[in-house]
Amino acid sequence: MDADLVIIGSGMGGATLAAALAPSGKRIVIVEAGERIEDTPEAIDGYAIHGRGVFRPDETWLDGQDQPFSPGNFYYVGGNSKFYGAVLLRYRESDFSPIRHMGGTTPGWPITYAEMAPWYQAAEEMYQVRGQLGDDPSEPPHAAPYPFPPVPDEPEIADLRRRLSGIGLHPSHLPLGVDIERWLERAKIGWDGYPNTVGGKMDAETIGIAEALKHPNVILLTGTRATRLECGDDGRIVALHVKGARGPARIEAGHFALAAGAVNSAALLLRSADGAHPQGLANRSDQLGRNFMNHNCSAVLAVHPFRRNRSVYQKTLMVNDFYETGGPKGEPLGNIQMLGRVTGPILAAGAGLPLMLANLISDRALDLYAMSEDLPDPESRVSLHNGQIRLDWKRSNWEAHEALVARLKKELRRAGYPIVLSKPFDRRTPSHQCGTARMGRDPGSSVVDIHGRAHDHPNLFITDASVLPTSAAVNPALTIAALSLRAADHIRKGDWA
Ligand SMILES: Cc1cc2nc3c(=O)[nH]c(=O)nc-3n(C[C@H](O)[C@H](O)[C@H](O)COP(=O)(O)OP(=O)(O)OC[C@H]3O[C@@H](n4cnc5c(N)ncnc54)[C@H](O)[C@@H]3O)c2cc1C
Repeated sequence: MDADLVIIGSGMGGATLAAALAPSGKRIVIVEAGERIEDTPEAIDGYAIHGRGVFRPDETWLDGQDQPFSPGNFYYVGGNSKFYGAVLLRYRESDFSPIRHMGGTTPGWPITYAEMAPWYQAAEEMYQVRGQLGDDPSEPPHAAPYPFPPVPDEPEIADLRRRLSGIGLHPSHLPLGVDIERWLERAKIGWDGYPNTVGGKMDAETIGIAEALKHPNVILLTGTRATRLECGDDGRIVALHVKGARGPARIEAGHFALAAGAVNSAALLLRSADGAHPQGLANRSDQLGRNFMNHNCSAVLAVHPFRRNRSVYQKTLMVNDFYETGGPKGEPLGNIQMLGRVTGPILAAGAGLPLMLANLISDRALDLYAMSEDLPDPESRVSLHNGQIRLDWKRSNWEAHEALVARLKKELRRAGYPIVLSKPFDRRTPSHQCGTARMGRDPGSSVVDIHGRAHDHPNLFITDASVLPTSAAVNPALTIAALSLRAADHIRKGDWA
């Protein structure tokens, strides 16, 4: 056997699992399709990133109408977290129970918030979250304060905070995995959407992979794409097939953990179909690839023609007054948080505006992000079409998102911003992808059990966004990390005890 554990993917789920299991001394091989991101001039160039898409992959997926598109999905050591906004926010306590939304009902989770709370705390400590408890009306119970004080507001954001409080809302500090001094040493830019090449962001590479590789029993294979899992007659996974710079190879191991992201993890299991599993591995329930969720998101720009916004990073405030209520019958609407600073070139690229006009607006705009829950739907799914990934995202609960954006616009006008513009995020950007191998107690209706173990394969764990039963209206990374720490504990105390 080549390894005790092979982890596929070095993003939030895979890296966190690797770090948690590394001290065991077991031989761990991490297989990562991408390479490490290098510090180039493009890494701090908003137009190169958003306009020219220099970091986007050279691959196309098909949409629900079989039209090819270039997905905003990143393949690097650290995965999508290299570009993330580093908002490390817990699901709310209510998210773990069934909830009636404007667009339908969510099923809740097979575990409670109380079961997750210690793992959330461990993940916050590991990713060095900066935050402050006590000012968020939807905040779930925390057993301890955040490890670090919050990232400070810039003056324009402090002013927005005062204005929102003045109209009766409850703005709170965004919990962030960012060392702001270190980040700004490289360049005076925000971190949301920019790759982390200097270690100022606490991401899967700078925290999880760095920690795991301190242990000599852990190896990271970069530029190595997993192509297929091989299943034995007894249902155990026996090997992973990969393709790297030196051609194809086969890696045998005692355990496997799949963490290639919600779309690629489902695709890999579907690609691994064999005579005994013609629908793909881990798919006896026929749920694999289904229940794909992303968030319903819009950028909302609050403009005052005579007030300049000189902030650099901006992303320190959120509003959860409409997280659990606000709909016509009291339904939840979602979360509001600051976006990273939308500079003129980014606005020009995103909205198709001439640069001069975009600069004019950007100089006077505060940029917010409205995010609403997408509900699980078995017809919203990842499948393969002649081997190519087909992502048919059936967006749901859009009415709640429209209501959230309308409410936010109204509140911003009341707070003193006479012009408020909004634009929904591109459907082809699956930034918050999740749900394709959902967790549950019933093997007939879920893919993995409550610890992330595949119901059908006793030595296969899935430890990425795939397993989330609901998307909530919260950025997913902390929940993915917390679930990975929980799965690691289960493996250590059970399988490896
Ligand atoms: C611009 C942006 C901003 C975001 N902001 C936030 C935020 O502020 N807060 C938050 O919580 N979340 C945020 N997210 C989402 C967050 O980054 C993801 O939810 C999280 O990284 C998902 O973790 P994961 O382990 O499921 O997958 P990923 O982190 O995507 O990792 C998957 C890894 O698997 C690798 N891989 C894929 N296929 C294969 C294969 N066949 N073989 C080998 N390796 C493979 C990939 O290269 C990647 O490294 C953001 C995402 C983006 C794109």
